[in-house]
Amino acid sequence: MSDDLLRIFKERRALLEGHFLLTSGLHSPRYLQCARVLMDPALATRLGAELAEALRPVLPAPPAVVVAPALGGVLVAHEVARAFGVAGLFTERQDGGMVLRRGFVLETGQPVVVVEDVITTGGSTREVMEAVTRAGATVVGVGSLVDRSGGAVDLGVPRRSLLTLEVPTYEAAACPLCAGGSKPEKPGSRAAR
Ligand code: ZN
Repeated sequence: MSDDLLRIFKERRALLEGHFLLTSGLHSPRYLQCARVLMDPALATRLGAELAEALRPVLPAPPAVVVAPALGGVLVAHEVARAFGVAGLFTERQDGGMVLRRGFVLETGQPVVVVEDVITTGGSTREVMEAVTRAGATVVGVGSLVDRSGGAVDLGVPRRSLLTLEVPTYEAAACPLCAGGSKPEKPGSRAAR
């Protein structure tokens, strides 16, 4: 599956290879934009189903709800929720915290799967997990389309990803691509083409 998905990400220009200036100011030979695969409804549904299938055997209980952080996770939650036949909710950032809004309610003890498009450090995933826990529900697993941590992020619950990718980043002064004489480009300019 991973090889096939890597090919799809490249074909859809969701994964660009070259020399990029990221919004963080860091340079990278890879640029990842999951929206470029999720914008295809049939593909989004397929990936959601595959992530649900990857999670199913490692979950202690089937989820009653799927929750993701907006914006990047919204479509992933929607499609994984479709596969499980449950509701898909999303959290939003408000006053610096991650909260459920829009009348989204979790019930006490409800098993919840948290999903993401990409897990890098796991920071935003942890914030969603905390929001779910505060609401009285129980996170039983975490899924992401892409794992940029190389499997290193431990969230204390079973976790599955469809694709593990290395996306190295460098300070400009230490960038081997710059040292090789190339100039970084802003990815949006090519990805939007
Ligand atoms: Zn560079």
